[in-house]
Amino acid sequence: MKIVTLVKYVPDATGDRGFADDGTVDREREDGLLSELDEYAVEQALQIADDSDEEVEVIAVTLGPDDAADAIKRALQMGASGGVHINDDSVHGSDAPATSAILAAAVRKLAPDLVIAGMASTDGTMGVLPAMISERLGWPAATLGATLSVDAGTATIRRDGDIASQTVEVSLPAIVSVTDQSGEARYPSMKGILAAKKKPVDEWQLDDLDLDAESAATVGLDNAWSTVLDTSPRPPKEAGRQITDEDGSGAAALADFLVSGKYI
Ligand SMILES: Cc1cc2nc3c(=O)[nH]c(=O)nc-3n(C[C@H](O)[C@H](O)[C@H](O)COP(=O)(O)OP(=O)(O)OC[C@H]3O[C@@H](n4cnc5c(N)ncnc54)[C@H](O)[C@@H]3O)c2cc1C
Repeated sequence: MKIVTLVKYVPDATGDRGFADDGTVDREREDGLLSELDEYAVEQALQIADDSDEEVEVIAVTLGPDDAADAIKRALQMGASGGVHINDDSVHGSDAPATSAILAAAVRKLAPDLVIAGMASTDGTMGVLPAMISERLGWPAATLGATLSVDAGTATIRRDGDIASQTVEVSLPAIVSVTDQSGEARYPSMKGILAAKKKPVDEWQLDDLDLDAESAATVGLDNAWSTVLDTSPRPPKEAGRQITDEDGSGAAALADFLVSGKYI
């Protein structure tokens, strides 16, 4: 069985993040990392491999600039068997439809039984790529799985809603996305870190993919269907109001404040 996990390299949310002059995310500003939500996708693939009697190959695929190789490295350290890094300057600033066309072409080339993605990237947070890729491949999609299991050519997820949970079953080949409820992602062991150095990582450019002409024409910032017109930093938070109880009026002042804000 072959499983592809989609792993996105994103800016570190704890670091200094910002935008380049062309309105795109500044991916060179400082070190990024594997999108945390994609670690759950890698974990689910590894658990299927751990529980299976047959050999399961787990290939981590990323689309991004040079540094995005770190996202694959992390997946390999966790236990993935190999990686594919699609790295092509012309991809800079591509929007979600173009990104999905490129990733779908990569999946078509790898011909896996199952694709597992995170529920959303932690930078774009659109959560649309799994559905877009499924549409392009003509494969069923089951998204936002809080659980995932695979058995005899079928993938089953449980989706937890506000008032009910649904169990959704899809025939393989299929694409699924999993949430952070799907199970704690393993931390790479020293053995895993050392083993990762010997695992194969292929570098592909767009020419290595069988991208149809219509999709190829949508790649890159100039061809994106949506344009970022302006970015501005969020204003710093203002200090909250402090109520000091010096003469016994504090409780009433607090209650007045809560009523005025319709908190009670
Ligand atoms: C090199 C590059 C630079 C870009 N620069 C910008 C930019 O500066 N500004 C901007 O607005 N948009 C940019 N984009 C486009 C934007 O990142 C894509 O639209 C994005 O990949 C899709 O949105 P999302 O990550 O929110 O997808 P979601 O649908 O939220 O992601 C769901 C899942 O899809 C998978 N996935 C998503 N993207 C990738 C990927 N690239 N590789 C592997 N798996 C992935 C992950 O598993 C992820 O958890 C860029 C894209 C690329 C490839």
